[in-house]
Amino acid sequence: MLLDTFGRVARDLRVSLTEKCNLRCTYCMPAEGLPLVPVSKLMTADEAVRLVDLAIRDLGIAEVRFTGGEPLLRKDLESIIGEVRSRHPEVPLALTTNGLGLDKRAGTLSEAGLTRVNVSLDTVDRETFERVTRRDRVDGSIAGVRAAKAAGLGPVKVNAVALRETLAGAPDLLRFCLDEGAELRFIEQMPLDAEETWQRGAVVTADELLAVLSDHYELEPLGRAGDPSSPAERWRVAGTEQTVGIIASVTRQFCAACDRTRITAEGTVRPCLFGDDETDLLGPLRAGASDEQIGDLWREAMYGKWAGHGGLTDARPRSKRSMGGIGG
Ligand code: SAM
Ligand code: SF4
Repeated sequence: MLLDTFGRVARDLRVSLTEKCNLRCTYCMPAEGLPLVPVSKLMTADEAVRLVDLAIRDLGIAEVRFTGGEPLLRKDLESIIGEVRSRHPEVPLALTTNGLGLDKRAGTLSEAGLTRVNVSLDTVDRETFERVTRRDRVDGSIAGVRAAKAAGLGPVKVNAVALRETLAGAPDLLRFCLDEGAELRFIEQMPLDAEETWQRGAVVTADELLAVLSDHYELEPLGRAGDPSSPAERWRVAGTEQTVGIIASVTRQFCAACDRTRITAEGTVRPCLFGDDETDLLGPLRAGASDEQIGDLWREAMYGKWAGHGGLTDARPRSKRSMGGIGG
C-alpha cells in the first residue's frame, strides 16, 4: 500500500504522458508553451505501462487516470491503455483531455479499454474560449465531449476552471452539459499557472459560482454523497437527474481525504500537487531496478507526503512546476 504518516492511503494514480499541449490556457501554460523536455527524458509507452502495472499489482492502486499536458498528443495512447487493460481487466482507466482530436479517437480508445473521460471546457462561448486558451478551438472541445458520450466513455465529465472571464457564462455551460448528458464540475483556480499571476484574492470561489448558477437553476445540495474521498461537492439540478459539482480546492480544502499519487511525464513520483519533492523512478527503472525496488522507492516517497498545502496563500512558495508540467 501507499501509506503516509497521516494514515492516508493512495489508491488513485494520475499519470502524465506528456508536457506538451495544443492549447495555452492562461491558468496553466505560458503563451509560448513549456520548455520542451528532450524525448529521451520522457517515459516511453513500455515504461509508463510498467509503472502503472506494478502500481496496480503491488501498491494497491485501484484507479488510473492518464493526463498531461495533453495526453491525446501521444500517438501511442491506445497502445498504453490496451497494454494496461490486458493485464488488469477490472481497473477503471480514465483520461483527462481538452478533447481536441477526441472525435477521431474516442472509438479506438474505448476499444483499447478506456473506461471514462473528463473533458476540460471552461466556456462554450467562442471568444471567451479563445481568450482563455489562446486558441480558437471551442468547436473541437465540444466535438470531443459529444464523441466521448457517443463512444460510451461515461459518465462523461466536463471540468471547468472557475474564472472571472467565464463566470457570467457558467449557466450556459451548465445548460450545454445538461443537454449533452455530461456532468459539469467547476474547480477553483489553484496557483499552478506557469506565469505565476495567481492571487488568492482574485479566485472565483465556490460561493460566488453557486450564487451565479442559483440565479438560473434551483440547486439541491448533495454534499460528497457516495464518495467521501471525492474532491467535488455536488448539487442536483432541480427537475433533472443531473448534478453539478464544485471542487473548492482553495476555499474548502480536502487534503485530509486525499488518496492521490502522481507520476510526471519524466517518471518521477509527486505525492502532492503543491510539493516539489519528487522521487525519480525512471532512472532506477532504466538502470535495471526490480519491480520490488521501484515499489519501495514509490512507497517511501508517499510515506513522506505532507499533511496539506497550507492555505494556498500568496506568500507561500510557489510550486516550481505548473499544472501542465505536473499532470492535473
Ligand atoms: N490537457 C488536459 C486537460 O486540459 O484536460 C489534461 C491536463 S490539464 C493540466 C488537467 C486539468 O487541470 C484540466 O481540467 C485543467 O483545467 C486543470 N487545471 C490546469 N491548471 C489549473 C489551475 N491553475 N487550477 C485549477 N485547475 C487547473
Ligand atoms: Fe493544455 Fe490542459 Fe494546460 Fe489547458 S489545462 S494548457 S489544455 S494542459
